[in-house]
Amino acid sequence: MWQVVGYNRVLSLLQHSLQQQSLAHAYLLVGPPHVGKMTLALELAKALNCEAVEPPCGECASCQKIAVAKHADVQIIGVTQDVNSAEVRSRVEIGIDQIREMQHSSSLPPFEGRYKVFIINEAELLSTEAANCLLKTLEEPEDKIIFVLLATNDRLLPATVVSRCQRLELPPLKSAEIETALNSNWGIEPQKAKLLSRLCRGRLGWAISAVSDDTLFQQRRERLDRLHDIIDSDCEERFTYANQLATQFNQSRGLVLEVLDLWQEWWRDLLLAKVGLNEVITNIDISSTIVERSRYYSLAQIKNFINSIQAAGEQLRQNANPRLVLEVLALDMPRKERHGKEIATALNYG
Ligand SMILES: [Zn+2]
Repeated sequence: MWQVVGYNRVLSLLQHSLQQQSLAHAYLLVGPPHVGKMTLALELAKALNCEAVEPPCGECASCQKIAVAKHADVQIIGVTQDVNSAEVRSRVEIGIDQIREMQHSSSLPPFEGRYKVFIINEAELLSTEAANCLLKTLEEPEDKIIFVLLATNDRLLPATVVSRCQRLELPPLKSAEIETALNSNWGIEPQKAKLLSRLCRGRLGWAISAVSDDTLFQQRRERLDRLHDIIDSDCEERFTYANQLATQFNQSRGLVLEVLDLWQEWWRDLLLAKVGLNEVITNIDISSTIVERSRYYSLAQIKNFINSIQAAGEQLRQNANPRLVLEVLALDMPRKERHGKEIATALNYG
């Protein structure tokens, strides 16, 4: 049994290729972070080396070694530093030495299994030299050697490398699919499974880390509290907060973009509550706050501000001045007014 949630089409393709022994020499798995690319790559490595009749069994010595990264024939290549800062991260790459080492290892026959599997995590971080070096290996495929490249954005990879791989796309999963999996495979209680399935934006891996790591929840709680404070505050306080975010942006873009994603989700929930679609909001644990707050804004105000958040995110990604962008955004945030009568016309809103 493949321990993979969703992606039935990709799975049946891989299973079919395994049965027919018509595997590609290289696969490229493309999808957002935490969507399950590494899980699928490891399951493929297990299926290739499993000792049971119906691989991957997950229980034989081979499967267990792969699961704990102790199998001599399954190697993971990637950036070694554990870095969160986007600025540091942008200078980190998978170097040519790592690829040369891999090439040397791939020239030797499998040591304990049937296939050698090389998984290249975050392949878009390959340096140009390393990518060219890898290309040579991909152009001269050897028997019993399989490469699996994982990437969030394969447009950052040289087209020549992409063209040598079978590309398999792993888009975000549907929240219902994740909710069921969390509940039945991980035993998460229904209410929590529902909340996680909505917060994770289709990325099961994120949901699973949030189960074991409470800091992700705590961080979200703090960010929501801060958002509620800012909405209720005056210009000066909003200005101060925008400046704090701008300073933070210079240290870690990712964190600030996450804050904006959270804002956008919160305001989108407000819009849904406003038109009476309470059952599909994301932040279901604070749904009463959202419904209550939705009464203070007109639909136009909410929609315009969602557009402003989106535009700000794009400007930041295109390297606009963060202080300026965030100040304008913080001041743009609509103020509380009561717009009860609009509820009646809400469903006509396009
Ligand atoms: Zn097995």
